[in-house]
Amino acid sequence: PINPGDKVVYLTFDDGPSRYTSRLLDILDKYGVKATFFVTNQFPNYQNMIGETHRRGHTIALHTYSHNYSNIYSSEDAYYNDLEMIHNVCVSQTGVTPTIIRFPGGTNNGVSKNYCAGIMTALAQSICYYGYLYCDWNVSSGDAGGVSTSEKVTANVIAGIQKNSVSIVLQHDIKGFSVEAVDDIIFWGLEHGYTFLPMTDTTPMVHYKPNN
Ligand code: ZN
Repeated sequence: PINPGDKVVYLTFDDGPSRYTSRLLDILDKYGVKATFFVTNQFPNYQNMIGETHRRGHTIALHTYSHNYSNIYSSEDAYYNDLEMIHNVCVSQTGVTPTIIRFPGGTNNGVSKNYCAGIMTALAQSICYYGYLYCDWNVSSGDAGGVSTSEKVTANVIAGIQKNSVSIVLQHDIKGFSVEAVDDIIFWGLEHGYTFLPMTDTTPMVHYKPNN
């Protein structure tokens, strides 16, 4: 990893693309900000947005094809079979081989215990042999649960990024209210001297400790 400096923010969006992704790309373009998308195939009608997102300069990273916990965390083979499917979608959409992944629920998720003892510990160790870097986050917008307004997402992200020199922000582009918050987040960040960057292989990754 290479230290990107101080007051750096990596906006990351999980679980899409969805019907909100196009709107998000327009907000990002308004400011010329590049972000990172941990994509799935949960909404197959929007698969073409993976290519569109890539062409507009953002980083495409992997989050699994199905995002189905009971399947992906049933075994290492099941996880890697699923990951290969979204990998192949991304290669066909972008012509680029993705190198960064995020485990659904984060590396420290507890839900995987329901399906396979030790799976997260095993995956966090084996993932590098498949050529991937993995990354969690150090700023949560809260949009995956509890928070349901743009105002609260904005407040959570602005509070969070002030606590870090380098922030990796978790949002979901399957939530319209979260996408709408991005305009205010970037406006505030640029006003206050923050730099927004897309993730690359040299980005300092955040790693949670597995608890399963
Ligand atoms: Zn997710």
